Amino acid sequence: MKVAISGAGVAGAAVAHWLYRTGHTPTLIERAPKFRTGGYMIDFWGVGYQVAKRMGIEDRIRTAGYQIERLRSVGSNGEVKADMDVNVLRRIIGDDFTSLPRGDLAAAIYASIEDNVETIFGDGIATIDQDSDGVHLTFEQSPPRDFDLVVGADGLHSNVRRLIFGPDRNFEHYLGCKVAACVVDGYRPRDDLSYVLYNTPGRQVGRFALRGDRTMFLFIFRAEHDDTDESPKAQLRNEFGDAGWECRDILATLDDIDDLYFDVVSQIRMDGWSRGRIALIGDAAGCISLLGGEGTGLAITEAYVLAGELQRADGDHRRAFDAYQALLHPFIESKQAGAARFIGFFAARTRFGLWFRNLALRTMNFGPLATLIAGNVRDDIELPDYGI
Ligand SMILES: Cc1cc2nc3c(=O)[nH]c(=O)nc-3n(C[C@H](O)[C@H](O)[C@H](O)COP(=O)(O)OP(=O)(O)OC[C@H]3O[C@@H](n4cnc5c(N)ncnc54)[C@H](O)[C@@H]3O)c2cc1C
Repeated sequence: MKVAISGAGVAGAAVAHWLYRTGHTPTLIERAPKFRTGGYMIDFWGVGYQVAKRMGIEDRIRTAGYQIERLRSVGSNGEVKADMDVNVLRRIIGDDFTSLPRGDLAAAIYASIEDNVETIFGDGIATIDQDSDGVHLTFEQSPPRDFDLVVGADGLHSNVRRLIFGPDRNFEHYLGCKVAACVVDGYRPRDDLSYVLYNTPGRQVGRFALRGDRTMFLFIFRAEHDDTDESPKAQLRNEFGDAGWECRDILATLDDIDDLYFDVVSQIRMDGWSRGRIALIGDAAGCISLLGGEGTGLAITEAYVLAGELQRADGDHRRAFDAYQALLHPFIESKQAGAARFIGFFAARTRFGLWFRNLALRTMNFGPLATLIAGNVRDDIELPDYGI
């Protein structure tokens, strides 16, 4: 089948990989003018890591990845408040765990198909018309084309979801925070292989040293959804300008940044992920948010299951889409519930909340307690074997 995929991120590249591998002809349509690389750091583990192994991209991911050793929470003068040994987590979830920039994971997947799969960059789907024979698409730039199926893999603010299912407000559940991330050159200090966190009530900034003398910063702060017309940089300066620690130095680096990532922290909750010949995957279907620390792995898993079910249903897309949803929807719902509970870890509202979070981090250094606290990060799902 000819399958149009909106979005060439982790989900889009992964579903293109599995569809190509099972004999279909996918076409990726990406709004950005070229493949998006870099971006914020992600932890990659769990069921998605197992799918990545089946995709044959583990070596590439490990090479691009960082084996983080410490998660360190500091106070306003840099004093250590809690210092967690990340190997404790590895002992719980196993060695199939690494951290890497989101774009490097997407690039590792894309490299496995880019010579075989058509990608249209700098364009987007304008209209979708489907009937019993297929789907007619018009584009913002390119001439119209016909496909058999369409997959919406275009993220939290999905265009395909809006065109087929309705406006974002019907599905978006705002979790009360905004997030920003950027990468800068030459920042000091570095603290290699340590993720350093600084919090004040309702705010967190994280710093992680990357290869090539680059540093990634992640900002999270509590705010109303549409509370301001200020630019993202102005919002960060307002929130973190007087926050203490290295915040002034970090904010000063923003002047030279032209690709600051900035968004709301929201989940997408939908009852159904498909309509006719159109299906959604990744954040477009069931974003769990950064609080879950597993969105990429879930997106890759969804891509594998969607293509696997199409294969199993011998191309009967209705049967396949129903099976895809039946297998994964309850799992994603449980991940969303778990993620929402983590908000206090990222942006505790009060000083007591921060004290308690640091206590929890310190407690994690004790194996049995860590198993109790972190035990529910394990993925409670059996990955089907489609023989693909
Ligand atoms: C700060 C932060 C930290 C995170 N940390 C982790 C973590 O530790 N571990 C983890 O696993 N996950 C993490 N996540 C979540 C993870 O990044 C997402 O779940 C994952 O990237 C979703 O992949 P996706 O392909 O569905 O969407 P996206 O990554 O958003 O990709 C969507 C793609 O579609 C394109 N697109 C958008 N609109 C259109 C359009 N109209 N037409 C064509 N193309 C379009 C975009 O340019 C993009 O390339 C984090 C997220 C954030 C924001």
